[in-house]
Amino acid sequence: MQSIRNIAIIAHVDHGKTTLVDKIIHASKIFRENQEFNDLLLDNNDLERERGITILAKNVSVRYKGIKINIIDTPGHADFGGEVERVLKMADGVILLVDAFEGPMPQTRFVLGKALNLGLKPIVVVNKVDKENCRPDEVHESVFDLMFNLGATEDQLDFVTMYGSSKQGWMGPDFRNPTDSILPLIDAIVEHIPEAPRPEGIPQMQVTSLDYSAYQGRIAIGRVFRGELKEGANMALTKADGSIKKVKIKELHVFEGLGKLKVESVSAGDICAVTGLDDFEIGDTLTDAENPEPLERIAVDEPTMSMLF
Ligand code: GDP
Repeated sequence: MQSIRNIAIIAHVDHGKTTLVDKIIHASKIFRENQEFNDLLLDNNDLERERGITILAKNVSVRYKGIKINIIDTPGHADFGGEVERVLKMADGVILLVDAFEGPMPQTRFVLGKALNLGLKPIVVVNKVDKENCRPDEVHESVFDLMFNLGATEDQLDFVTMYGSSKQGWMGPDFRNPTDSILPLIDAIVEHIPEAPRPEGIPQMQVTSLDYSAYQGRIAIGRVFRGELKEGANMALTKADGSIKKVKIKELHVFEGLGKLKVESVSAGDICAVTGLDDFEIGDTLTDAENPEPLERIAVDEPTMSMLF
C-alpha cells in the first residue's frame, strides 16, 4: 500500500506559501505526468499561476519517490474556533513557514499553538533568505522561543529547520550554502513527517471542509481515518445531535496535483472528496451503515483568535 504524508502549511499571509507549494509541485514533476495541468500553467504568467493555486485548489497532492504527499490548505483567517483544529486533525505534521525578515506573526502563533497541542511535529521553513536585511538566525531563534512559550514538547522543539527562497526555488539546511533545488525540503518532509497510519476496520471519514460543483452538488472533503470507502457503498452519516442518516457514496475523488482524480475506493490515511451525501455538515462522520462508529467531534464554541489577542 502506498505511503502517505499529510502536511498542513502554517504561514502568515505573504510569507510565501503559494510560491512554495508551486515550487514543490514543479519539483515533484507532477506536471510532466499530466499534460492538462502543464498546458494550463504554461498559458499563464507567474503571478496568475500562483494566485490560481490558492483560488482553485483547496488541497494539493504530489508524488515523490513513490510517496504521496497531501498538502492541506489551512484557513488563512483563523477567526473561528474549531475550523483550525479540524483541518490540523487531517495532518500528520506541519510546515511552519516564516519570512526571514518578519519572523513569526500573531496568526502563525495561533495556528502553531493548536498544532503543537494536537501533538504535531513541525518542520520550520525560513523563507525569503534572498532578501536584503533578512535575519535568518534571529528568526530561527524567535521560532524556537515561540514554540517553547507555547509549551512544545522536547520532541517538538527538536525540529528540523530548512532555509531558502521559494521564489528562487531552493531550500536547504544552511542558508550560507544555497542549494539549487527545493528537493531537500521534500526529502525532509518524507523523512521527518510521520507516515499516515492506515488502520483497517469499520470505515471512518470525518467531513472537514466542503466544496460545490454545479452538477455534482455539495462535496464533502476529509480524511479517512480507518477502513476503506467505496464508490456506490451505502453508509451512515453521524450528526452533531447524535442522529444517524443513511447515505450512499456516489463518487470518490482523491487529490492529484492541483486537481482531483476519480477513484473506486479510498483507504485510511488518504484525504478524499465524496459526492452524493447531500445535507452533511462539517464535523459529521461518514461510517459503516450497519455498525456506525462516529469520530470525536471538535467543539466550535471555543475562544476565537480575536478574543485571545
Ligand atoms: P502567500 O500569501 O503566503 O501565499 O505568499 P505568496 O507566495 O503569494 O508570496 C507573497 C509575495 O512574496 C509574492 O510577491 C512573492 O513573489 C514573494 N515571495 C515569495 N517567496 C519569496 C522568496 O523566497 N523571496 C522573495 N524575495 N520573495 C518571495
